[in-house]
Amino acid sequence: MATSGHQKPMKICIIGAGMGGLTCALALAKNGFEDIHVYETASNLGFVGAGIQLAPNMSRILDRLGVWGDIEREAVLCKETSIRDGATDTELAHVELDEIKQLYGYPHMVGHRASLAGGLYEGCKREPSIKFHFSTSITSISSWEPNPTFTTIPRHGEPYEVSCDVLLAADGVKSSTRQQMLKLLNHDADVQDTDQAAYRILLKREEIEHDPELLELIESERVTRWIGARRHIIAYPISNNRIYNISTTQPDTNFAAAPSETYTTKGSKPAMLGVFADFCPKIQRMLSLVPDGEVCEWKLRVHAPLPTWIMGHVALVGDACHPTLPHLAQGAAQAIEDAAVLGVLLGKVREGRAGVGEVLRLYEEVRKERAEMLVEWAADSARELHLGSGKAKEERDKVFEELKKKGGRARVPDKWADKDVQKVVYGVDIVGVAEEEFEKRFGGL
Ligand SMILES: Cc1cc2nc3c(=O)[nH]c(=O)nc-3n(C[C@H](O)[C@H](O)[C@H](O)COP(=O)(O)OP(=O)(O)OC[C@H]3O[C@@H](n4cnc5c(N)ncnc54)[C@H](O)[C@@H]3O)c2cc1C
Repeated sequence: MATSGHQKPMKICIIGAGMGGLTCALALAKNGFEDIHVYETASNLGFVGAGIQLAPNMSRILDRLGVWGDIEREAVLCKETSIRDGATDTELAHVELDEIKQLYGYPHMVGHRASLAGGLYEGCKREPSIKFHFSTSITSISSWEPNPTFTTIPRHGEPYEVSCDVLLAADGVKSSTRQQMLKLLNHDADVQDTDQAAYRILLKREEIEHDPELLELIESERVTRWIGARRHIIAYPISNNRIYNISTTQPDTNFAAAPSETYTTKGSKPAMLGVFADFCPKIQRMLSLVPDGEVCEWKLRVHAPLPTWIMGHVALVGDACHPTLPHLAQGAAQAIEDAAVLGVLLGKVREGRAGVGEVLRLYEEVRKERAEMLVEWAADSARELHLGSGKAKEERDKVFEELKKKGGRARVPDKWADKDVQKVVYGVDIVGVAEEEFEKRFGGL
């Protein structure tokens, strides 16, 4: 049987305190690690003000890590979803979501990003084994195994070198670890432009309560998606129905001339109103309430599947290895799945049941195919929802008709609301899968 061979506690370093990095730290602490370091360029968590969907596959993991209770308290239940034609507000499909809890053990909820990140961070702070190094960037990695070694640059201080037993790079879609890894592999899988961008908007209850139609939306337990050619809007209440979260997707024109490093920009309100000018009056009213200067536009980027997520004792996590379009609402959920699997599998190394390289390879086997499939489904979903005219749109609209006839119990072009898709996304207990695969591989040794 392979063992870690370590006398002193294994030291694990994590790059990035996003959803992936925070969950890695917590999952490792829960699996008995005593020396965990998280390096984050930003001076604090600083999460953008926006909503996030809390799908059952995410909540199941958060609950096991002991942080779901606090996050759930502020979240809003999603009992139903309504998919509507943006121009007319006509309902194309209505799908009940309230059986999700019965099927998958956790309800589908939506929350504030700050609440999810805050819940994870509070969980980490309760673990004495986790040390945060904010305002600290990781640059070049000079050794990948057996002891990954990298340069650390504190914002106010001299650079220094750090060595550890395992390095987890949860450094986001712009991951410099991924770039260094691919360079060594002589492989080109740079970030790809999706030609899509997103506005993200939060409206406070007091900003919309004068409008009965908008008040009804914030008081509901409903995710609404309004679709049109090459565009859509998804919206839902968060923070105990005190905030209405609106996220759009539209062709990316504003970033076309911008340098590739640009991911977000202050958007122009008139430009935003122009993008949705042919959407219904309710949406016009909703968008016109956005305070001037608070329009934030995000560029949506992905990259082609990578040849590998690991090199030596270094592994990529979350958006660093599988950035996704947001249309399946699974980006953070998949980063959290990565982290939970790493926690459990590296825990086996700590117990002396396998080596680091072996379990990192198993991590990739358990996670890569699933994460990349969901990335593809998210892109597929947008392709179908964004059809503007022609044969393909006619076919899609027939699917919506069929769905209506069957009371929401048939294929849904919005994959996020499709019951067969949900079965695969929400129904898989990835930690259980990792445990099983580990036992199959190493159990008899
Ligand atoms: C419009 C939109 C809507 C979305 N909606 C949902 C949703 O409803 N549900 C869902 O599950 N997902 C959603 N997502 C996806 C989700 O936000 C991301 O997939 C997720 O946040 C990725 O987390 P991460 O930890 O991998 O990366 P990030 O959150 O990008 O974190 C990376 C961190 O690493 C730090 N970092 C980077 N480089 C270094 C370095 N060299 N040294 C130190 N620190 C470094 C960064 O500062 C950052 O804090 C959405 C995304 C978008 C764009």
